Amino acid sequence: MLIKTISVGQLETNCYVVTDETSLDCAVIDPGDESNTILDYLEQNRLRCRAVLLTHGHFDHVGAVEALAEETGARVYLNREDDAETRRDLHFPLHLPENGEYYADGDRVEIGSLRFEVIGTPGHTPGGVTLRCQDALFTGDTLFRGSCGRTDLPGGDTEELLRSLKRICSLEGDFEVYPGHMDCSTLARERLFNYYCRLAANS
Ligand SMILES: [Zn+2]
Repeated sequence: MLIKTISVGQLETNCYVVTDETSLDCAVIDPGDESNTILDYLEQNRLRCRAVLLTHGHFDHVGAVEALAEETGARVYLNREDDAETRRDLHFPLHLPENGEYYADGDRVEIGSLRFEVIGTPGHTPGGVTLRCQDALFTGDTLFRGSCGRTDLPGGDTEELLRSLKRICSLEGDFEVYPGHMDCSTLARERLFNYYCRLAANS
């Protein structure tokens, strides 16, 4: 598994390209903006984008979804709770494309030899998910290095976010944490030093 981080857009969203190096199939997580930059990377490395996986529906995570899906034919996955049809709010602009699929807690998406497990982690948004693949967790705006996502936007819920953090931190073993913004971390580090994780663990 090869993970490439591409920082996109004004809010510097982390878009991740996760590749099965054997088949060169890949998934793109949260293409928030700059579709050309992402497509260039795919082309230069001869990758076949099989899926666009979204951690949530906020505009800064979905801005390049349509362009990417159109260019590559990849299937788009989103939780129904964050779809524009459900939320009807400017923060959630994405209507799932026709060949898209809603996914939810417990679902799996297979890309080449990679298996992504969907963990429902609402709170930052109602349809927020964390994606687990091997020893990597893509936490979107639920868990950041030393911090967590805001809950003051429409659909946000602090109690729910804390429950989601508790669930993530309760996963067995250690993981690399790839958040939706800012630097990567490890789950062990966040369990120890992240105030919100500690708060969540004790709640
Ligand atoms: Zn967000």
